[in-house]
Amino acid sequence: MSDCLFCKIIAGEIPCDKVYEDETILAFRDINPQAPVHILLVPKAHIASSYEVTSQNCQVVGHIFEIISQLAEHEGLHNGYRVVTNCGADGCQSVHHLHFHLMGGKKLSEQMG
Ligand code: 5GP
Ligand code: ZN
Repeated sequence: MSDCLFCKIIAGEIPCDKVYEDETILAFRDINPQAPVHILLVPKAHIASSYEVTSQNCQVVGHIFEIISQLAEHEGLHNGYRVVTNCGADGCQSVHHLHFHLMGGKKLSEQMG
């Protein structure tokens, strides 16, 4: 997807503060952090949103959560954290490449919506 911001970050065309990378996923710090730790985890394959997750491509979602567990440990999130994926207009998704926000390092808001 040539016009996708996160595909450009994955391709190295736009720099990022990378925290983890392997063959199938990339994790990098959010440019506008909402918490002391705010990391985005994305599949390298372009999946527009969680609407597009299927039995064919859902393995990467499980892998992302495996790495979330490792990063939470590495980032010292021993008192808890939050994982969010925004989807579509009502979910206020602004970048249309599936991503998971890992946020922590403070007591987060009790409000989810
Ligand atoms: P969404 O609103 O789609 O769930 O989340 C998109 C996230 O991407 C936002 O938290 C925003 O701050 C982050 N973001 C947007 N542009 C960039 C960028 O160029 N680099 C990084 N690292 N994060 C970005
Ligand atoms: Zn993309």
